[in-house]
Amino acid sequence: MQPPTRQHPDPLGCTAAEYVTASVESRSVGQGAARAAYRRFHREGVAPAGDPPGIHPIGRREIEGETIKFTLTLPGDLETESVLIPMRRRDGSVTRTLCVSSQIGCAMGCRFCETARMGLLRNLGTSDIVAQWHAATHQVGHRPKNIVFMGMGEPTDNLDAVIPAIRVLADHDGPAVAASNISVSTVGNPNGIRRLGDLAAEPGFHRLNLAVSLNAPNDSIRAEIMPVDRAWPMDDLMDAMLGWPGRPKSAICVEYVLIPGVNDGLEHCDEVCEYLRPLRCSLNVIPYNPRRDSPWPAPSEPSVRRFTDRAIENGQFTKRRGTKGRDVMAACGQLGNPEIRRRRRVTTGDLIPVTVRADRKAGEGIQAYPPA
Ligand code: SF4
Repeated sequence: MQPPTRQHPDPLGCTAAEYVTASVESRSVGQGAARAAYRRFHREGVAPAGDPPGIHPIGRREIEGETIKFTLTLPGDLETESVLIPMRRRDGSVTRTLCVSSQIGCAMGCRFCETARMGLLRNLGTSDIVAQWHAATHQVGHRPKNIVFMGMGEPTDNLDAVIPAIRVLADHDGPAVAASNISVSTVGNPNGIRRLGDLAAEPGFHRLNLAVSLNAPNDSIRAEIMPVDRAWPMDDLMDAMLGWPGRPKSAICVEYVLIPGVNDGLEHCDEVCEYLRPLRCSLNVIPYNPRRDSPWPAPSEPSVRRFTDRAIENGQFTKRRGTKGRDVMAACGQLGNPEIRRRRRVTTGDLIPVTVRADRKAGEGIQAYPPA
């Protein structure tokens, strides 16, 4: 059944300028009143008169220490998943980063990822994405400083919703999250990177951050753990990354999930550093978070240190990411409700042809590591 047509614009799904234009046309309100209603909704959580905005109720909420994972319940008994991650500053104060989902499930099939096992259930709309910020701020009660598109889904697979959502999130009359505090993480879709690059070339978005999941030193290992590599090999990916506009000093964040026995050798490290040499980037090493039924353990602390030390010796700017949220399955690559993931998967026209079987074990077919 089609949802009823809205009489009034949804402030979650449009910028202030769009909201004002649509409100003036549909409700004969003045521009000033419409802008004030938009601002009040985003800043104070007070819904404007007329159709209620597309706010979704919070479903589950799980807390590990100061990390909060929450779900929003969508029509069709589906849910988004979001994570609020605390960042403690040197002065002891805490800011929070919100990790948002751009899809329910994901079609990309990365073999180390919990979400991949769901397949793609559906794309989220712009308002569904912004609703996660709104819920964090006005329902959970923590206004995030940073937003990262690293939750469920591949953002470049849903850019028609993700790019407008970034515009809303950055709107001065709306959430007002600076573009420099927004990061989009992609599996490495060159065309998607170029489209995001067009946004980053616009005034006000120069400092938008790009993160790319590399996770392997060469195409043969990458194709084993990330089927997308067969469609978008690393040369194409490098070409797109080199074209990223950004601000003059900006660095792309290259993510590298370190998986024992698959990509954590020193020779792998050397190869990755060689690949990244032409690019101004930060290599972000992420210790693998074992997902349910994982064939791989988490890497040992010495092996993580060995890898990062070697990258630094190679002259590569390198950081190591913590693993907040591991216990509530809220860490990188771990979002995805096992109940929902049993449901039917869908595909959209834009997807690269990756077959994801819900019953496939992560890592199946990879020979590089003896089964755990
Ligand atoms: S790691 Fe990201 S792109 Fe890969 S399957 Fe998981 S959610 Fe999708």
